[in-house]
Amino acid sequence: MDYKEYIRVIPDFPQPGISFKDITTLLQNGEMYKNAINELKKMVSALKIDVIAGPEARGFVVGAPLAYALGVGFAPIRKSGKLPYETIEVGYDLEYGKDRLAMHTDAIQKGQNVLIADDLLATGGTISTSVDLVQQLGGNVVGAAFLIELSALNGRAKLPGVEVFSLMTYE
Ligand code: IMP
Repeated sequence: MDYKEYIRVIPDFPQPGISFKDITTLLQNGEMYKNAINELKKMVSALKIDVIAGPEARGFVVGAPLAYALGVGFAPIRKSGKLPYETIEVGYDLEYGKDRLAMHTDAIQKGQNVLIADDLLATGGTISTSVDLVQQLGGNVVGAAFLIELSALNGRAKLPGVEVFSLMTYE
């Protein structure tokens, strides 16, 4: 299935030189959204997964339905200051900017197998920070799943030892 037909590419957003891959055009098509999640489910079927963790906001759009489809829990990874309970935080650089991500200290139980999910792997900053958070909580990161991977930015290099699954790849 050609999922790329459903991705809208916007040049120079949010700043000049960035070719933004807009997944909203995939999400608005119920059949293709469902197919994409089912396809990711198949790709990770060999893994033993206890919980999926996904960074806000588009990581929820991929991670939560995948967790539902697999029958496992979902742990949100949020920007600093959004989670109400006790948290741990890690700072990171984005493709365009800086930020901090946080998780509840009880979001992952020690020894749980965790799959991290997001819409898109670019430089890998967001996901390596997510891996760091999950590992600090004692989770075992068994893989990372994405709708899209921007291969030229080589985000995989920031995820040593993590199996990466992506539905679509752009140079
Ligand atoms: P990274 O941290 O550089 O790997 O960037 C990945 C994060 O930035 C993801 O959470 C994406 O939602 C967002 N992002 C970066 N580039 C794009 C893009 O072209 N389309 C959609 N999201 C993007």
